[in-house]
Amino acid sequence: MELHQLTIHELQKLIQNGEVSSTQITRSVFSRIDEVEERIHSYIRLMKDEALAAAARADEDIKNGNIRPLTGIPVALKDIVCTKGITTTCGSNILHNFVPPYDATVVEKLSAAGAVFVGKANMDEFAMGSSTETSFFGPTRNPWDLERIPGGSSGGSATAVAADECIASIGSDTGGSIRQPAALCGVVGLKPTYGRVSRFGLIAFASSLDQIGPFTKDVEDCAIMMNVLAGYDPRESTSVKMEVPDYRQFISRDISGWKVGIPKEYFVEGIDPEVSAAINGAIDTVKKCGGQCIDISLPHTQYSVAVYYIIAPAEASSNLARYDGVKYGFRASGERDLMEMYRKTRMEGFGEEVKRRIMIGTYALSAGYYDAYYGKASQVRALIRRDFDEAFRECDIILTPTTPTPAFKIGEKTDDPLQMYLSDIFTISTNLAGIPGISVPCGFTAAGLPIGVQFLAGHFEEGKLLQIASAFEKNAAIEKRRPSL
Ligand code: GLN
Repeated sequence: MELHQLTIHELQKLIQNGEVSSTQITRSVFSRIDEVEERIHSYIRLMKDEALAAAARADEDIKNGNIRPLTGIPVALKDIVCTKGITTTCGSNILHNFVPPYDATVVEKLSAAGAVFVGKANMDEFAMGSSTETSFFGPTRNPWDLERIPGGSSGGSATAVAADECIASIGSDTGGSIRQPAALCGVVGLKPTYGRVSRFGLIAFASSLDQIGPFTKDVEDCAIMMNVLAGYDPRESTSVKMEVPDYRQFISRDISGWKVGIPKEYFVEGIDPEVSAAINGAIDTVKKCGGQCIDISLPHTQYSVAVYYIIAPAEASSNLARYDGVKYGFRASGERDLMEMYRKTRMEGFGEEVKRRIMIGTYALSAGYYDAYYGKASQVRALIRRDFDEAFRECDIILTPTTPTPAFKIGEKTDDPLQMYLSDIFTISTNLAGIPGISVPCGFTAAGLPIGVQFLAGHFEEGKLLQIASAFEKNAAIEKRRPSL
């Protein structure tokens, strides 16, 4: 095995035993990037010089016995988190030259834990999309089949892990953007409870839904990343003051006797038969681990996509009002007056999908329609949340497919936004309810495309998610494969 193929916990052992240095690991990652990046395009920006300098510092720390949770580990950052002095584009032309004056809290935390930043990962523009095709910088390709999308919006963060172009990465999830690409790329992805991880320095899409979370090669690594990311931040008003457990303690624990709810609304027609079969297999594995699977109902599930596509664009239209050519990034040239400068900047700076969201959101928030759309959507959102509260009185965990289909072809859904929106049908309610969710690989299609199973838990029960995900991973007997690149 090459160093770039290993997990965080495997590399930590080698580092602790003095068998490898961070410089060796980092060089291995960059040689892998040289080999495959041209075909995949996981990154908008690589940070090789900075990474090698950070690796050298990590090696000093290791020599001095100062080993922290991520010392020397190469990590990729979705280009939606601000990095001081390093261009942060959010996948958009309007921010193509934006250099943040500060680091996001998660960047500070990862840095303090000793991580080495490899680069800024590609994403759908402003995280709006499910395929990474709306990036101003061009699409990312799925390492398992280069003709297919990797999912989105955190597509680059997922492919960087799947193709061993980093050891772990950070994404953000507003309606599925960590879990959906994790499933389509065959890696682990966790969206924490709303408020668990600070959003300070995360470029806002829909503030009441956005959460930052990790992509990793296995569940134990996910726990290691969560130990670093989670926790209260006085700079972020929605972050929650609550003790953070050591997530690693949940790995390899027994789940026998756990009640696992299978919501009937998630097993409807339209699911790809190979996905269905893999999810049935996952249910069997959970039973084998001692879980007791019970039928449950989340009756308002059918409204989740409609509710999301009012609330997310409404919040986006407000959040994106700040991009006007004055305060951040790009400004169109040749303007005659202020209004024309605003108009031209926004016209040239934003892509089609972002403009569509701004228009839907502005309409939904306009005086005459607020009650009918945003007001109503907020009420139904409360019902969706209540469905989960009630379900978690009956069960410990909910199990669903992460996505209705495996990765689709590049270009297949770009002309049909509604079809694109439906690819998040199983992930969106989680964000509306604010609960945590994880996607774990659960098999492959006959054509060799990865499939993911999603586990959901009550607010702040990430430990439970990691516990069942780890039990599942150990018992699922899924063949260890790597994309052939
Ligand atoms: N695909 C969904 C959207 O386009 C979710 C994106 C996300 O989670 N950032 O809004």
